[in-house]
Amino acid sequence: MLSLAVVSAQTRITPPDNKYTLEEDVQLGREAAEQVEDELPILHDDAVSSYIETLGDRLVAAIPAELRHPEFHYTFAVVNVRDINAFALPGGPMFVNRGMIAAAQSEGEVAGVMAHEISHVALRHGTAQAGKAQKYALGQFAGQVLGAIIGGNVGSIVAQGTQFGIGTYFLRFSREYEKQADLLGARIMARAGYDPLDMARMFQTIEKQGGAGGPQWLSDHPNPGNRVAYITEEARTLRVDHPVTDMRAFERVQAHLKTLPRAPTTEQAMKDAPSGRRPGGAREPSGVLTDTVEAPSTRVTTYEEGNLYRVSVPSNWRELRRGSSVTFAPAGGFGEHDGSSVFTHGVEIGVTREASRDLEQATNDLFEALQGSNPRMRREGASRPTAVDGRSGLAQTLSNVSEATGKEETIQLVTTQLDDGRLLYAIAVAPSDEFDGYRSAFDRVMASIRLTG
Ligand SMILES: [Zn+2]
Repeated sequence: MLSLAVVSAQTRITPPDNKYTLEEDVQLGREAAEQVEDELPILHDDAVSSYIETLGDRLVAAIPAELRHPEFHYTFAVVNVRDINAFALPGGPMFVNRGMIAAAQSEGEVAGVMAHEISHVALRHGTAQAGKAQKYALGQFAGQVLGAIIGGNVGSIVAQGTQFGIGTYFLRFSREYEKQADLLGARIMARAGYDPLDMARMFQTIEKQGGAGGPQWLSDHPNPGNRVAYITEEARTLRVDHPVTDMRAFERVQAHLKTLPRAPTTEQAMKDAPSGRRPGGAREPSGVLTDTVEAPSTRVTTYEEGNLYRVSVPSNWRELRRGSSVTFAPAGGFGEHDGSSVFTHGVEIGVTREASRDLEQATNDLFEALQGSNPRMRREGASRPTAVDGRSGLAQTLSNVSEATGKEETIQLVTTQLDDGRLLYAIAVAPSDEFDGYRSAFDRVMASIRLTG
């Protein structure tokens, strides 16, 4: 008689393409971890740290052979803050918040979050995401990872002076990667002696926590949909070999945590730090790039630039002078990146020192100069004739990927020649997905330019 085997095959997990080497994963993760250790309060309590390390080591030993990278070095630290979060960096450094251990209903739930994080590391999701936009150099991530961990306002202040967007590559995952981490996590759980369903239970425990905007962990690890259902399905294909049944160590640690002074929130921990804990030096922020920027006001403010031009810009934009050019940008739309000023929304107007007498040639030279500092800048179509205060000018649409945010942006470049031969240019920039909302404001700014020289 035919026997019908009901054990179905495990879902196949293929790590995504990755432009980084394993050594670079290790190096990038180490740089970021050093910064986290400098800035966040690490709990130095042997009872708690040795418990988490033992648990972590057991899970790492259960990583399937084909995903074990001998270069990687998994380490486990407990952050003494009460919000529910945990994160792991490329190459292996993992941080588990005290609040996460306190909230878990069982050791299996703590193991579930850790197995999920270990899976992101083993599958190299952080660097795979970072490499999708472009390959960043070592050191370029410093300062951003922390901002991404903290999120919200404090996060963007911490990330000041660096690229806020890029640190999130290491920590915020796509739904596709989430599913991979869930499935591999389930496998690691079973091999380490835990019920894979405890991972699904921990997600439910985290969801119940709520709070302002919900726990950070859930926005970093979005539910791909049917999370509990597919973990349950996968669990059916797995056998828990030597189930861990002794829960005394977990209970002792939870009881011990209750005897310690109450932990601050991550935000409080950052604010209470004497130096303000701002990575990358103590330079005062001249502007902080944020994810959302107020829409351009329909009211205008008029600015006069010496004997050159007059321009009217939305009244909620500020005037920022830098060298020979002036940027008009809304709060959150300008800041610094790698020590130089950048803007993500707004208009910059300037005059080149010298230029070809041919407008087309002069515009092309300017484009190449811009491209020199923005290597991903491209022309979109041909330039079009336009008028600037009645003079003949050129308008050119460009696309770029912002070095500061990693986002696709659309640029309108308008040029005209002054009587002395110099080139006057206006560069309007907005993220491509917001550009339609800025088009009419940009058109009005360009139309308002009056040459006064
Ligand atoms: Zn995840």
